[in-house]
Amino acid sequence: MTLPNRSSSFDVAVIGAGAVGLAVGWRAAQRGLRAIVLERADRTGAGTSSVAAGMLAPIAEALPTELPLMRLGLASARIYPEFVGELSDASGMDPGYLRCGTLIAARDGDEAESLTRELELRHSLGLAVNRLRSSEARRLEPALAPALRLALEIPDDHAIDPRRLTAALTQALTNAGGTLRTSTAVREVVVTDGRVRGVRTGDPDVEPITAEHVVVAAGAWTEALEGLPDDARVPIHPVKGQILRLHDPAGPGLLTRVLRMAGGYVVPRGDGRYVLGATMEERGFDRTVTAGGAFELLRNAFELLPSVTELVIDEFSAGLRPTTPDNAPAIGPGSIPGLHWAVGHYRHGILLTPVTADLVTGALAAGNDRAIADEFAPTRFAGVPVAVGAGARA
Ligand SMILES: Cc1cc2nc3c(=O)[nH]c(=O)nc-3n(C[C@H](O)[C@H](O)[C@H](O)COP(=O)(O)OP(=O)(O)OC[C@H]3O[C@@H](n4cnc5c(N)ncnc54)[C@H](O)[C@@H]3O)c2cc1C
Repeated sequence: MTLPNRSSSFDVAVIGAGAVGLAVGWRAAQRGLRAIVLERADRTGAGTSSVAAGMLAPIAEALPTELPLMRLGLASARIYPEFVGELSDASGMDPGYLRCGTLIAARDGDEAESLTRELELRHSLGLAVNRLRSSEARRLEPALAPALRLALEIPDDHAIDPRRLTAALTQALTNAGGTLRTSTAVREVVVTDGRVRGVRTGDPDVEPITAEHVVVAAGAWTEALEGLPDDARVPIHPVKGQILRLHDPAGPGLLTRVLRMAGGYVVPRGDGRYVLGATMEERGFDRTVTAGGAFELLRNAFELLPSVTELVIDEFSAGLRPTTPDNAPAIGPGSIPGLHWAVGHYRHGILLTPVTADLVTGALAAGNDRAIADEFAPTRFAGVPVAVGAGARA
């Protein structure tokens, strides 16, 4: 298909203005590439990024079966301070990074035993984790209930406010000379003669956009994109998470660290606001919130942090974690020249935003079509069926 001459022309077109797409667009513009970020909603961060809790927790979330992912997360956590420093200078905004550390708490003997195993795994990997008796943990966080049996302190797992992050990225993108087009849904990635040529929107009044490279950062809705052959696609499905946003009328101080427990977590914003998350549900593109979801979140937190019931509820929402079949992201060049992926970040997209942006734009700037690392190569899914579902277009 030939795109008409009136098309706008860019070096890079990024599909999706979540944290990942915005960061890729910003970094690309910083490198002097003519970058455009296209977002179908009327504002940036309207997808999963604005729902996320914002834990930056590669150590707390380390799994023995996902060590490459843990290493990627650690790499991203390491560059986070520099990333947010640069972002705040570039945007003139505060991205809401909080160097707060994390506690993982056990409520009973079984959970304490499981925490001890978690501690051993992390020590065997050389990660900084401290075992705290109940009294020690409660000295650090006096609001914790006496029922607490054991806690692990992770001083290097922090948090960020994803809404502030996306707002700052939006500003930084345009300040760096990048173009942002909201209310612009991409319908199709245009591929001719075996290479990507740009994107076409669903609106016949909007001109097609030509671009040397297209970066797919469309989150949970990736599968709705047309134009790509099946074996060039990355299969993505949504995993729903319900999450509460609350504030303490008495101000900050109830909890200063991220608190994680079996089945949930409480993340402080440092100013008296808290996020209480999150359910994990396989319900397609359903984003309703339920009484059962709220009950589950409050019950899990209440046992360890009884005063959670005194907090005021500001918002109850649900988001869709963009998930690949192996739960690892797809980052870097795809199988068609000019096609790049930054999708499938599942539970870690906010954590992985800086490293993803650096990897993708590094490959773009170097004209490097080599996969970033085999574990995250978008091409690993060739042959895995992708259903282009109506749900993804909703
Ligand atoms: C409840 C919950 C809690 C979470 N907590 C954490 C956490 O603590 N830490 C962490 O690291 N991660 C967390 N996550 C995961 C994190 O939110 C995601 O991994 C991350 O937001 C993915 O970012 P993204 O930019 O890829 O996707 P999104 O933020 O969803 O952005 C994709 C964008 O693409 C747009 N789009 C889609 N299709 C098109 C199209 N055809 N044309 C144009 N635009 C399109 C969408 O509108 C959307 O704005 C959480 C997720 C949930 C649901």
